[in-house]
Amino acid sequence: MLAEELARIGSGGVAAGLGAHISIATPPIWKFGSEEQKQRYLVPAIRAEKIGALGITEPGAGSDVASITTRAEPVEGGWVLNGEKTYITNGVRAHFIVTAVKTTREGGHHGISFLIVERGEGVSSSALQKLGWHASDTATISFQDVFVPEENLLGGLNEGFKLIMANFQWERLAMALGAVGAMTIAWERTAAFARERRAFGRALSEHQAIRHKLADLATSVYTCRCVTYDALRRFMAGEEPLREVTMAKLLTQRASFELMDACLQIHGGAGYMREYWVERAARDARLGPIGGGSDEIMREILGRALAL
Ligand SMILES: Cc1cc2nc3c(=O)[nH]c(=O)nc-3n(C[C@H](O)[C@H](O)[C@H](O)COP(=O)(O)OP(=O)(O)OC[C@H]3O[C@@H](n4cnc5c(N)ncnc54)[C@H](O)[C@@H]3O)c2cc1C
Repeated sequence: MLAEELARIGSGGVAAGLGAHISIATPPIWKFGSEEQKQRYLVPAIRAEKIGALGITEPGAGSDVASITTRAEPVEGGWVLNGEKTYITNGVRAHFIVTAVKTTREGGHHGISFLIVERGEGVSSSALQKLGWHASDTATISFQDVFVPEENLLGGLNEGFKLIMANFQWERLAMALGAVGAMTIAWERTAAFARERRAFGRALSEHQAIRHKLADLATSVYTCRCVTYDALRRFMAGEEPLREVTMAKLLTQRASFELMDACLQIHGGAGYMREYWVERAARDARLGPIGGGSDEIMREILGRALAL
């Protein structure tokens, strides 16, 4: 409900900033953290006293998460961290970054761990400019000889890949729910516009081409909702619905972008103007098929799940 309602406010960036804190940075602490880590990070995060970010992506490793190079060297009492993360949501504002690091020389699936890194000496961020999601903070974060105490290891040593995979399921579901919310409000607003705006002596919605387009879009919203809710029900029932979550992410993110583009078209020139909500919605929706695992990666996962 929260994911859908956040999307309905009409700012992808606000939903992204809050979503990164709620849906991807803090759930690993809730799921894999020690009691002490929960008290130190989760409790203030829930109270909105501390902002969290999840740092996985690097300049040289996005889709191929196993090839990250940020290195944590073991030292007395903890680790020393060096490396760079990029495209990190809340990357400038976050008080702590749940960070994927290499804890073996080889790295890869069996050599990645997670450290909770507090902002402090050696941690610096720089903001990035984006096509959409302007209200969210996206940044590159660099770590230079950052000491991280051993009690900040999240989950088991070298078991980080498991954490990444577990986190992705909820992230992708939350993205699908967000798309359903954004599509619903966009359809409602565009239908209202089409009923009101007149051309050639009639309302736009009285022109068959526009009416049929809106009918197709309503079908797309309904299909996305059904597929997402089915994946959500399975997830909440404790199944491991990898296939259904992947399909929901793949379907909804592309459908949302296509719907926003169609809504913009129905608005005509007004749709291209900053003063209309749809200009922002179209830009915001473009991230969906890239973030949280791209369309191509979703198809690769499905290819494996379908034994292809
Ligand atoms: C606004 C924004 C916010 C983000 N927030 C976060 C965040 O909070 N934390 C975080 O860790 N990351 C975050 N990301 C990173 C995001 O998850 C990655 O951008 C995404 O996973 C893709 O990685 P990449 O950009 O390195 O693209 P690449 O992996 O370089 O891919 C480039 C293209 O190649 C395709 N491709 C890659 N591999 C294959 C393959 N095997 N077969 C076919 N095609 C392939 C991809 O689909 C894509 O089209 C964010 C990104 C953006 C843009």
